[in-house]
Amino acid sequence: MKRYYCPFCPTQYQFQKTRSDGVLICGQCGDPLIKKNYINTKQIVGLILSLAFLFPLMITIISLVKESSYQKTLINSISLQLIANK
Ligand SMILES: [Zn+2]
Repeated sequence: MKRYYCPFCPTQYQFQKTRSDGVLICGQCGDPLIKKNYINTKQIVGLILSLAFLFPLMITIISLVKESSYQKTLINSISLQLIANK
C-alpha cells in the first residue's frame, strides 16, 4: 500500500491534482508528489523492538495473576478442609 504526499505542505491541507501528462502534483504548491509506504521499515523495527521489551513483562504479569489466583484457590480449599474436619 502506498500513498502520495507533498513534503513541503502541511498534511491536513494537501490535495492531489493530476497534471496534463498524468503525474500527480500537489494542489497547493504544484510540486510532484512523493510516494510513501503506509508502514516503513523504521516503524516495523520499532514495533519488533517494543514487542521484545514488552513481551517478557506481559508474561510476568500473566504468571503473577495466575499464581495469585492459584494461591487463592489453594487457601480456599485448605480452609474448606479445615472447616469440614471440625
Ligand atoms: Zn505542496
